Amino acid sequence: MNGKFIKWNNAKVHVLAHALLYGSAVFEGIHSYKTENGTAVFRLDDHLRRLFHSARSFGMDVKFSEPQLKKAVKAIIKKNSINDGYIRPMAYYGYGSIGVYPANVPADIAIAAIPWKKYFSKNLNVVVSKYLRHSEKSSIFGVKISGNYANSILAMRDARIKGYDEALMLDYRGYVAEGPAENLFIVKSGKMMTPGSRSALHGLTRDTILKISNDMGINAFEKEIKLNEAKNADEAFFCGTMMEIAPIISLNGKKIGKGEIGPVTKKIMGKFYDVVRGRDKKYRKWLAYV
Ligand code: PMP
Repeated sequence: MNGKFIKWNNAKVHVLAHALLYGSAVFEGIHSYKTENGTAVFRLDDHLRRLFHSARSFGMDVKFSEPQLKKAVKAIIKKNSINDGYIRPMAYYGYGSIGVYPANVPADIAIAAIPWKKYFSKNLNVVVSKYLRHSEKSSIFGVKISGNYANSILAMRDARIKGYDEALMLDYRGYVAEGPAENLFIVKSGKMMTPGSRSALHGLTRDTILKISNDMGINAFEKEIKLNEAKNADEAFFCGTMMEIAPIISLNGKKIGKGEIGPVTKKIMGKFYDVVRGRDKKYRKWLAYV
């Protein structure tokens, strides 16, 4: 926290921290993996770039530089002997003002790292949410600002109350956008499509999948996707740093394809794990070894 290693039980903020009152924080979620050459952080530079982009968009000054945070991420993984891990850097307005506008409140910085296994333990039954995704008309778009995730929590809660595993959110125009914390891909006639970055976070897992799919000869591209197209897809999956690749087997109670993980999804998953675990030399440029 703010440049010092703090023991887990002492990693505290004041109850009137501005970020706690109003969600005035920006954050990243980063995955580290055990590889045969040691622990490696996947796309660390890209995640940190996005963290600074989120902070700048929010008018928040981060006290440390990107290279300093990069060093800190590696150091905290090492110190905690983490292999497969989840790293959460955050910059947040701390204690200082109870008013909504964070005038003269310093932005603190913290990085936490925890061992990580799997997020979803099963294939997903998904429901379309009644809550719309934020747009550029209601918030800054394409950034990870904590307060924006109230929208995600509402969608997730609604889905779970109705007995589903996860929500799919539409944008304000009615097009398919993304999950509450993950991007969507659909597969139709051997082609892979994902909603354009106008209505979904430009996720790094999404970007990784677009690149590796095209390299594998599978045509993968951005497209405005209507709800009916998603419902009639041959295959669908969610993807994100936390959940990696999670097959969707039904949408609003209607089976997607055969209602099981499809062949294209399987192929992409196989390649994805080769890439993140450093088994495919071609993509080792994305690994930052600890
Ligand atoms: N959409 C949202 C809203 C998210 O919070 C996330 C997680 N960062 C994603 C998509 C997936 O992005 P990434 O693959 O970079 O984790």
